[in-house]
Amino acid sequence: MADYPRHPDREEARLDMSISQVWAAERISCPHRDILRAYLAGGLEAAAQDYVAFHLEVIRCPFCLANLEDLDAATSAEKEELRQRLGRAADRTVSSSAVFLERLRDSGAGG
Ligand SMILES: [Zn+2]
Repeated sequence: MADYPRHPDREEARLDMSISQVWAAERISCPHRDILRAYLAGGLEAAAQDYVAFHLEVIRCPFCLANLEDLDAATSAEKEELRQRLGRAADRTVSSSAVFLERLRDSGAGG
């Protein structure tokens, strides 16, 4: 690994500040909503996960933080809906199995 000369701290801080100002003003680095969704699900590659984490936790981009909150709420609602759908499907499976077993018994094949 090559050793790159480090900027003096003050210059680095000034650079960081102007970059975050540009970021905030232009939103040039904002990850797409789908990326944020994948980030929430933990489904990003390590480098992408780090990038999004930096964007959210260090830059604290208000747009993406709001987006993330929105996605998080949507994800919870989707999970709840899925749970209810699965519950209904399980109920249907149980009752159709009961009907099937009853017919089987009625036809004399079950006994
Ligand atoms: Zn952003």
